[in-house]
Amino acid sequence: MSARLQLLGMDGAALEKLVVDELGESRFRAKQIAQWLARGAEISEMTNLSAKLRERLAEIAVANPVRIVQSHRSKIDGTEKFLYALEDGNLIEGVVMRYHHGDSLCVSTQVGCRMGCAFCASTLDGRVRNLTPGEMLGQVVAANRHIQREDPARRVHNIVLMGSGEPLDNYDSVVAFLRRVNDPEGLNISLRSVSLSTCGLVPKMYDFAGEGLPVTLSISLHAPNDDVRCKIMPVANAYPIGEVLAACKNYVEKTGRRVIVEYALIRGVNCALSQADELAARLRGLNCHVNLIPLNDVKERNLHAPEKAEVAAFLRRLNSRGVSATVRREMGADIDGACGQLRRKALASPADLNH
Ligand code: SAH
Repeated sequence: MSARLQLLGMDGAALEKLVVDELGESRFRAKQIAQWLARGAEISEMTNLSAKLRERLAEIAVANPVRIVQSHRSKIDGTEKFLYALEDGNLIEGVVMRYHHGDSLCVSTQVGCRMGCAFCASTLDGRVRNLTPGEMLGQVVAANRHIQREDPARRVHNIVLMGSGEPLDNYDSVVAFLRRVNDPEGLNISLRSVSLSTCGLVPKMYDFAGEGLPVTLSISLHAPNDDVRCKIMPVANAYPIGEVLAACKNYVEKTGRRVIVEYALIRGVNCALSQADELAARLRGLNCHVNLIPLNDVKERNLHAPEKAEVAAFLRRLNSRGVSATVRREMGADIDGACGQLRRKALASPADLNH
């Protein structure tokens, strides 16, 4: 990684230490810098600092370690995909979706992923490295700045930790990010508007329930039993579905928040009506909502979404068994929706990057 400091990743105390102890400036400069950082300013744009201070800061630090190098906007619904470059040249991606209640940003937590789910593009080349809290904050700040260029009234209102990576496999940095993201002096995003999605690292789910963070937990279940789950999610070999659901129940008890069960429908694998029955039975007693997601085809894998009628029948069956469930609305259908695909394309032909 680059040796340059990531200012966005520093909390108030660390910034103050840098400004006072190392740069010999007064403390209030740290507050000024923090305000600029939350707005996505580069160091050169921090115009209430002296030119000399800006110069010295720029020698040792970068404001935001994340830069948008490509963006693709859907003509259908305004959904916009970003390819971001990190300081060390690694690439990650994100997507901002426009909903009536505000903009929602999908944030990555790792470069790549080591969970190995059979249907997921992010894991095809394994995990490269964890992201720092500054790189997670940086995605939000870069996205805000991008969307505000056109419409200053827009801003990221909701965050879903559903980009590349397994958030609970980068636990400390993700928790640090969450504690920072709702800083009133910074991004000021309510944690009630944040969801964290996990493939089910059970011990970390218990740890997370104890953090006292009012975040919505999403569990990537994708199967009604261990037989099916083990075929598509290697993590199921370590943590059986019963333990995963017990950890979800604990999360509901500890936080009072309903969990979201994610279920990607994969043709011939997990969408028979008998499997809807099994899922409904499994979820009994858990305060949850099921999000059905017709699989985004990943061309590297031979896995596909079922027909629309099959999706509708699966949904009806769950509902008739008393399970709260909906089919996730497809967003950005014309911009190559599937997660991880933009990065894979860019890695295959780096000349396309508008650095
Ligand atoms: N590692 C975390 C978060 C990242 S993935 C997790 O597993 O939850 C975000 C969601 O997208 C997960 O539910 C994941 O299973 C799902 N997903 C991955 N690839 C997909 C695909 N091709 N089609 C539909 N959903 C997919």
